[in-house]
Amino acid sequence: MPDGSDRNQPYSAVTFDSSGQYGSTVWDDFRGAKLEINICDVCLLEGRTQVLHRDGAPRRPLNPWVPDL
Ligand SMILES: [Zn+2]
Repeated sequence: MPDGSDRNQPYSAVTFDSSGQYGSTVWDDFRGAKLEINICDVCLLEGRTQVLHRDGAPRRPLNPWVPDL
């Protein structure tokens, strides 16, 4: 993973960012800083019971993620 780069494009993985969560004991930034998180596809599938899916627009309901395999 590059240090100091503004590009993050992992192979066979997904990436997303998070400003944190009020309930977290390790990450909850309210000044605009974010973590950019990479998770490889294998780990994403292994942890899929902890992943939620929202279909389309932001205010749609969250449901458990069921990957198309
Ligand atoms: Zn992994």
